[in-house]
Amino acid sequence: MNYYSLNHKAPNTSFKDAVIKGLAPDKGLYFPESITPLSQEFFESIDNLSHSEIAFETIKQFVLPEIPEDVLKTIIEETLSFDFPVVELNENISTLELFHGPTMAFKDVGARFMARCLGYFNQGNDREVTVLVATSGDTGGAVANGFLGVKGVKVVILYPSGKVSDIQEMQLTTLGQNISALEVNGTFDDCQAMVKTAFLDDSLTSQMQLTSANSINVARWLPQLFYFIFAYKQLHNKYKNIVFSVPSGNFGNICAGMMAQQLGLPIHHFVASNNANNVVTRYLVSQLYEPRPSVQTISNAMDVGAPSNFIRIQEIYKNNFEFLKDNVSSYSFTDDETREALKEIYTTYNYVADPHGAVGYLGCKTYLKERPESHCVFLETAHPTKFLDVVEEVIKEKQPLPRQIQSVMGKEKVAVTISTYEDLKSYLLK
Ligand SMILES: *Cc1c(COP(=O)(O)O)cnc(C)c1O
Repeated sequence: MNYYSLNHKAPNTSFKDAVIKGLAPDKGLYFPESITPLSQEFFESIDNLSHSEIAFETIKQFVLPEIPEDVLKTIIEETLSFDFPVVELNENISTLELFHGPTMAFKDVGARFMARCLGYFNQGNDREVTVLVATSGDTGGAVANGFLGVKGVKVVILYPSGKVSDIQEMQLTTLGQNISALEVNGTFDDCQAMVKTAFLDDSLTSQMQLTSANSINVARWLPQLFYFIFAYKQLHNKYKNIVFSVPSGNFGNICAGMMAQQLGLPIHHFVASNNANNVVTRYLVSQLYEPRPSVQTISNAMDVGAPSNFIRIQEIYKNNFEFLKDNVSSYSFTDDETREALKEIYTTYNYVADPHGAVGYLGCKTYLKERPESHCVFLETAHPTKFLDVVEEVIKEKQPLPRQIQSVMGKEKVAVTISTYEDLKSYLLK
């Protein structure tokens, strides 16, 4: 499959090049040249297909032939070595748990898939690739874990000082080997801006091969479409009109769901659930796209002021506002509402959600008021113990720590503090 740049000023390129470059030379995001819907038989036989079989069938058109079939199958097996259960809260609301991977956030799948693709492409290449990534919390841990020990790849993670949870910080600062962490005096937007500046800095890119592992990278973004199909498989015999409420920050996850819809998955509607960082909620009302600096919330992985995948969403819906509005609703919720929701989910359903999932739950509830005949699935994008302070304070009960979290506790933090782009540049060049 070839990919084109959404800025339309760079040549089309292969999957391999799109993965290695991350961003096109004209700064555009890459998008597949074509999307071929899956066959009717695929959906009819879905009950008999394993997760790996579903993943292979859905992603092969975007990846072959640069990754051969047998290698792709192995990459998928290794990537999906944990479960994706749907838990029904009532007959209108379910949650899809995407936190059973090694860092307990949904980003594990994209990070593990991308790490293996890059590792494959970089075999026998003496030029090291540096993955430069900004994190609002969970990307850092997932990328660090996914790329740990991958030969020929160095990972540098930028995170905003004091704005990620303790566990998130430990997950990205304690691994060592080919993984380094830079603690930035600033916000996530500052981290993201520094990374973007680095990609455009010829004096840097002439000396090193940089790539991104944010959802701008197609190998990080596309595998996220599996989730929606896994959920559909678990629910389609019981419910019609399946709606997904996706707690959104950079809008990579929801945009992958829209790709699943393009592949023919009968998704009735999407709800983009936002915290106070609500540029898309406002866009769907005013038709004006007005990014703002991000504000800090208790669902920190969604504290994004200028969502990078918004441009891909526009492309999927053919830059047609009405078409977009028919398929997507968006609501924004405050931290107080989110805390109330955490409490409600716990007292009503005896289920412990995390703050991001709670925003998704609120999205479902708001949507269902208008469309009560739907079944709304909110994505539980991280395990509640990654946000222990908030969760324990609200539900007033101690949470047992899963083994993935215990394994990073008490390890020594190693991070270099930086404040400016010049600091980043001199770090990378030294
Ligand atoms: C990254 C993240 C999100 C936002 O996902 P996007 O793909 O950036 O929209 C939501 N919840 C959690 C827990 C995350 O880590």
